[in-house]
Amino acid sequence: MDIAPPSATDGFINSPAELLRELQLDPALPELDAARRREFPLHVPRSFVRRMRCGDPRDPLFLQVWPAAAEAMETAGFSLDAVGELGQREAGGVIRKYHGRALIVTTGACAVNCRYCFRRHFPYAQSAADGHDWHTTLDTLAADPSISEAILSGGDPLSLSNARLAALVHGLDAIPHLKRLRIHTRVPVVQPSRVDAGCIGWLTGGRLQRIVVVHANHANEIDADVAAACQRLRGTGALLLNQSVLLRGVNDSATALATLSYRLCEVGILPYYLHMLDRVQGAAHFEVQELEATRLMKELVAELPGYLVPRLVREISGRLAKTRVQWSD
Ligand SMILES: *Cc1c(COP(=O)(O)O)cnc(C)c1O
Ligand code: SF4
Repeated sequence: MDIAPPSATDGFINSPAELLRELQLDPALPELDAARRREFPLHVPRSFVRRMRCGDPRDPLFLQVWPAAAEAMETAGFSLDAVGELGQREAGGVIRKYHGRALIVTTGACAVNCRYCFRRHFPYAQSAADGHDWHTTLDTLAADPSISEAILSGGDPLSLSNARLAALVHGLDAIPHLKRLRIHTRVPVVQPSRVDAGCIGWLTGGRLQRIVVVHANHANEIDADVAAACQRLRGTGALLLNQSVLLRGVNDSATALATLSYRLCEVGILPYYLHMLDRVQGAAHFEVQELEATRLMKELVAELPGYLVPRLVREISGRLAKTRVQWSD
């Protein structure tokens, strides 16, 4: 697989002991057992670690990446395939679940392992489109004129090299019925240096309208480097949106969510979705109950201009779209 090389300044931390040392945290902080950790290791860019507060085991960025002992808890109703995606993959890593849109699982790799993610249980090696050329992927999309939008997802598409992404985008550009190219990526937030000249190169020009959906959960994730990466992305003419996951201990207060929306606005991103947690085994300690979530939304609506209020949604397998979580006033 052709993976983008990390930039010289950037590297990753993969050792729990090193992360604790770096943040001056108690080396005895309870962590997930080694066997379970091997299945979904600690993996975080150093630039993201630099945005964490030293000496605070409840830092909202730290909690998203720390393999906590609580992940070993077995919780009823939490499964290995919470969003019902296994078995929906077609050849070339394509998932056609919603009208007019095709999602492409371009790779299984991510720049960060988010502990709440459903990806922790996925046998991606067998179903991602990487490891071979894009012909099967492009053929699947070319054969279906009902598709007007291609969504690059993963894993994280920006884990791939610019050369591979340029080849894919070039191929998509040549499919006449496609109108939009959407890229779902957490990289501009967790590893902004990856939004390099080559990346801006394949994002610029081309026939398709471009939409980049980033993923930030807390305002502290957006520092000056991230703001600069967003500015480079906007310079390509791409529309920037954000999706977040509502996470206990991370962003489960109206203040945290409103501060995030304002910060996104400052760097030229509009909030899109606020996802209820996918109920995957190992992530139960992050769950915010629906009653609590709707209470937060009422507070947000009262605080924010309408365009800064994200849509609260839940992924329910078999539905024709993401399901809006509704509330009464
Ligand atoms: C979430 C998702 C999409 C995109 O849905 P939007 O509501 O358009 O953002 C497309 N395909 C799949 C398989 C998805 O899970
Ligand atoms: S797919 Fe997104 S949420 Fe999941 S681990 Fe990768 S970057 Fe994190």
